[in-house]
Order: sequence, then C-alpha cells, then structure tokens
Amino acid sequence: MHSIPNIAVPTIAIEGSDARFPVRRIFCVGQNYADHAREMGSDPDRAPPFFFTKPADAVVANGAVLPFPPRTDNLHHEVELVVALASGGSDLSPDEAVQAVFGWTVGIDLTRRDLQAEAKKAGRPWDMAKGFDHSAPTGSLLRGTPPAKGAIRLSVDGEQRQSGDLSEMIWTVPEIIATLSTFVVLAPGDLIFTGTPSGVGPIRKGQVVEAVIEGAAPLTLSFAT
Ligand code: MN
Repeated sequence: MHSIPNIAVPTIAIEGSDARFPVRRIFCVGQNYADHAREMGSDPDRAPPFFFTKPADAVVANGAVLPFPPRTDNLHHEVELVVALASGGSDLSPDEAVQAVFGWTVGIDLTRRDLQAEAKKAGRPWDMAKGFDHSAPTGSLLRGTPPAKGAIRLSVDGEQRQSGDLSEMIWTVPEIIATLSTFVVLAPGDLIFTGTPSGVGPIRKGQVVEAVIEGAAPLTLSFAT
C-alpha cells in the first residue's frame, strides 16, 4: 500500500530576500495588447481580453534548462508582466486591487501554438496548449506596485522578437485584478500573467530565450537539444 504523498507548494524567488513566494494559482490574460490580438486574428475593438489558467507547479526559475515540451512542433514565447498577490477578495475596486499586490516580475507564457490552433478550431479547451509542465517561467519578484509603463522585450539567441511597452496594455493591472475578482475570490499566492505584446514566435530545441521588463532582472531560459 502507498503512503500518503507529501506535496510541496511551488514557490518563486523574491529579489533581495531568502524568503520564497508561495504560488497558489496562476491566472493569465489573453489578448491584452491590441497588436498581439490582431496578430492572433482577433479584433481588439470588438473582443475584450479574457482569462485562462496554468497549474501552479508550471513555474520555472531564472536560469533553468528546460526539456523541450512534448506534443508540439510550434512552441511559442509570450513575454509578460507577472503580478503576485499578497491578499485577495472578490469584487475588488481598482484601488483595492492595487492594495492586494505583493510584487511583480517578468514571465513567459509558453504556448504550444499548434495545439492552441487545433483547440480554437474545434471549440475545445486550451489547457493542453497553455497549462503544460514548465509552461510558466517566472523571474524573481520585486516588491511593490508594478510600473504602468516601461519597455517589455524578448529575444531568442540574441535576436529581438518582441518589443512593446507596458503602457500598451488594454486592461491595466488594477483593471485586470478587479475584473478577475468578479470571476473568482482572489487569494494570497495568486499570480497573474497580464498578456503579451506582438511578435510571438517559435522557439527551437537548443535555443536561449531572454525576457526583459525595464526595472526588473532579466529572465533567461535554455531549451535542451
Ligand atoms: Mn499570454
């Protein structure tokens, strides 16, 4: 007979501290930059951003060497501002939403784009396209309120692929948290990936990806050959 398994809560680093931030859930915003919504074939003037999720243990730290994900020939990068919550609640006002923030960092919403395209076509869930193992690389958290503007960039093997500004977000961070809190009761430990600017594209085996948000330490990942 098996013993009852012990399961560790996933955590992420906090800049300038030995303490770790426990991850409860990961929420993500889809199509929160107009130019990315257009490159995905949507009209940002007609369809508002929306939410999906990843498992908490999809987080991966800076410097990781990741196995190339299975079941995809089109793994895509999406650089995103990530917000971590120290408190929660439901039906938060934008002001209350800001008070709930613990800190922020840069992350990558890794996406099996081929599986997502199949799911969209068939009207099926995105879980296997978005919520796979190691699909949420996340940098060290900086404490405090995230910036409302500043460069957000991603390069693959030194070649720039994505370049935008946080000020281009359709829903601001307070609006995202407030809106999400009408769908679920937010809680300490929740992470929110806030959407990606345009320029998403494929990552091949053996490549190195660097994600940057002005003011935060870069997040670098390598993929096994
Ligand atoms: Mn995304």
